[in-house]
Amino acid sequence: MTQLEHAAARGELSRPKFFDPALEALWERGKQHELAYVEHLRAQGLSSVVIDGVDITEEAVAQTIAAMRAGVDVIVQGALRGGSWAGRADILQRVDTPSDLGDWSYEAADTKLARETKGGTVLQLCLYSELIGEVQGTMPVFASVIPPWTDFAPERYRLADFAAYHRQVKQGLLGTIGTEQPAQTYPEPTSNCDICNWSTRCDKQRRDDDHLCLVAGISSMQIAELKDHGVTTATALAELPLPLQWKPERGSKESLTRVREQARIQLETRASGELRYELLAPVVGFGLNCLPEPCDGDIFLDFEGDSFVGQHGLEYLLGFHFREKGEPQYRGLWALDRAAEKAAFETFIDFVLERMKLFPQLHVYHYGGYEPGALKRLMGRYGTREDELDSLLRGLVFVDLLSVVRHSLRAGVESYSIKKLEPLYGYVRDASLPDANLALNRLQVSLELNDAAGILPEDKQTVEAYNRDDCVSTEALRDWLEAERAKLIARGIEVTRPEAGESGPSEGLSEWLERITPLIEQLTADVPVDPEERSAEQHARWLLANLLEWHRREEKATWWEYFRLSDLSADELIDERAGLAGLTFLETVGGTAKCPIDRYSFPVQEADIRAGKGLRAQGGQTLGTAEDISREQRTIDIKKASAMADEHPAAVFVHEHVPSKPMQESLVRLATHVCEHGMAEGEAYQAARDMLMRVAPRITDGSAVRLDGEKPLDAGVRIGPLISAGVLPIQGPPGTGKTHTGGHMICELVRQGKKVGIVANGHEVIRNLLNKVIEVAEETDTPLICIQKPKGGSKEDATDRLRFAKKSNAEVFAALNADCSVAGGTAWLWSTEDAFESLDVLFVDEAAQMSLANVLAVSQAAKTLVLLGDPQQLDQPMQGSHPDGTGCSALDHLLSGKQTIAPDEGLFLDVT
Ligand code: SF4
Repeated sequence: MTQLEHAAARGELSRPKFFDPALEALWERGKQHELAYVEHLRAQGLSSVVIDGVDITEEAVAQTIAAMRAGVDVIVQGALRGGSWAGRADILQRVDTPSDLGDWSYEAADTKLARETKGGTVLQLCLYSELIGEVQGTMPVFASVIPPWTDFAPERYRLADFAAYHRQVKQGLLGTIGTEQPAQTYPEPTSNCDICNWSTRCDKQRRDDDHLCLVAGISSMQIAELKDHGVTTATALAELPLPLQWKPERGSKESLTRVREQARIQLETRASGELRYELLAPVVGFGLNCLPEPCDGDIFLDFEGDSFVGQHGLEYLLGFHFREKGEPQYRGLWALDRAAEKAAFETFIDFVLERMKLFPQLHVYHYGGYEPGALKRLMGRYGTREDELDSLLRGLVFVDLLSVVRHSLRAGVESYSIKKLEPLYGYVRDASLPDANLALNRLQVSLELNDAAGILPEDKQTVEAYNRDDCVSTEALRDWLEAERAKLIARGIEVTRPEAGESGPSEGLSEWLERITPLIEQLTADVPVDPEERSAEQHARWLLANLLEWHRREEKATWWEYFRLSDLSADELIDERAGLAGLTFLETVGGTAKCPIDRYSFPVQEADIRAGKGLRAQGGQTLGTAEDISREQRTIDIKKASAMADEHPAAVFVHEHVPSKPMQESLVRLATHVCEHGMAEGEAYQAARDMLMRVAPRITDGSAVRLDGEKPLDAGVRIGPLISAGVLPIQGPPGTGKTHTGGHMICELVRQGKKVGIVANGHEVIRNLLNKVIEVAEETDTPLICIQKPKGGSKEDATDRLRFAKKSNAEVFAALNADCSVAGGTAWLWSTEDAFESLDVLFVDEAAQMSLANVLAVSQAAKTLVLLGDPQQLDQPMQGSHPDGTGCSALDHLLSGKQTIAPDEGLFLDVT
């Protein structure tokens, strides 16, 4: 793109005119967000000026500089220029840092729609800041991004952290455009192509060149591999001799053979002018073997959704087709707002369950993974029909026909979208696709701009007709696949039906629901649906009620992911970060005869598998544990389970499930207490209740969290013992010494006779803080002994300062009652009933990575909770979707959208 834009700037190319209503909507939404932010600033009494126009003219630059010199609080669309660089910043905001302008200076702020700030945005802000620095004689220290849906809470970026990268990118750009002979580049497809002005030109070039990306399903890794072997066109790939003459560095021989055959059939289709297809040999568990017996009650489902509506997107039309006495019926459940979206989801799930009473064998067919994903999201978002959907998923009621197609046939199409396949089974759509695309675009623009009333009735009709076509086409495809299946059987080829899934509620579920349903009802009885109308106490109860099911939602999502991965072929697992495919057995490198450690090689692939992770073989059977993995050597050592000692799978995937019963039970005890005693009363569960209500630290002598001129470490050590109950959050960006602060605070607490616990997501993190505590204790001559509940199987020996509770939790509590002052363990230790108030203070390390649900579950172990964390770190990886406000980390809950903790709400470590 840089080369094309540069050529356009030199006048060698004309920039294409590109009108995309979706892009226009994006632009319009961006503008609205910027205006809303400016209004928000004006409402605070800040003065503002708007620099008119869009170009960076001399006049606009002069007006901007004049406004900066005059000290206007907010300069909108400030025009900046310096040397060969120029730009228009959304907002220049006055700050109290002195500069050549006077007692003030400016920082840049950009209003962005993206939910996650991209590197390009920060680079843009670096450039604006540099240009601001030239005007005011001093470089701003920070710049901000104002993301949507955060009540305009800015994300602050310290410019010095990005300066080196900014310089490097600038130099690279100057090197690219500053030369007479620009480097040769090729328009390899990227995610930006869909919204790029140059897309028509680049697409034409790829077609003219017969580029490899035109082959359906080919990956960039495969393209790179093929290019290394001189295969640069789809035609060359189609003509590549089989079997493959080389051992691929990236991917497997099988996957390259698959794309070679795909290229061949596309070429044959191109040459003959008619869509060619061929059936693949059936593989057990895949393709046509996954088609269940058709049933009169079958349902064909399709969603229309827009991920840019509101904070979470909107599934604005849930359509399904079925037959009533053989006659086609279609229902389109429109959802133009949240309440209707929830109602549509519930109506559909209720419809399926009601219909299953008549047709117990029915299935819900869909094309691609979007529909079950959307149903799971809606279930999580609204916390409704959770067990009903879970039973449908476990019952394998949903059938993905895209997966069936992928594994059962090869067609001469560039993409396996249902529309491209329709010529195969002769489906003719009622709604014209170009009309439908325009109607979809207009409708989504209205939704994205929060103008549902502006949707044209004829657009709704067209979109509904389009959705009905998708549903009916899914049925036609299913019928055609059934006919192809029958042909194979007629030729004597065995094709099976899938086994039925589980039915009925899972074991123990009814009993669990009987226990928590009354608690949820009591906690939420008087809580308004609209969060804006809730008091802090009501919102805290609502959170607690919705957290009772948090672990079960996570577990369900873990199992759904397991079922999804189990259904993938080795070829598909190569594209999964949880998977590792193309395994070749090399040798046995250890273990025992019963449980050997086997070494396998694997081809280059992106996989997130680390030592210690539990592995399943392709298909889902328990295989063992990853003992070691070397990305340089491309080998993995797998410690086998005895049942799989002699098996050598072609692919594996990570699946781990540790039941979270102690945490669930701890939350039930907390909820029971709140139901009996109220959220704000009494002394028990003070830390949990303060956490839910976001109560500021209760410092017994009434002093500030940090005194004037006090160092953060000194403040932590001073106030630690002064908090007799409640929560103290300590936020520290990298390099500000969170562990150091924690170590000193714990030693001080021990010196004052307190019992202290440490919890974190992982044993290593806990150990790291324990080590720091011991280090500080040595330095300060603090008599202190620690105990850790280590990872199962630990063979480490105790030292004078550190013991291990290898057999049971009880060892930890006995030690705390004897001579140990500090104990470390995971949430499974501190959530148990025996741990209740066994400590004075519990430190949660890496609290930005520990879920609110788990921190609440462990909080019962102590009167006081200290959260150590950095919100810039990744959140705890969560599998499930949860109702708003319950799917976050403990620290994010307390920060409530703010980037930094307020001075009276916690301690901010601001010294590196
Ligand atoms: S269409 Fe894609 S490849 Fe072409 S310039 Fe745009 S982003 Fe680059």
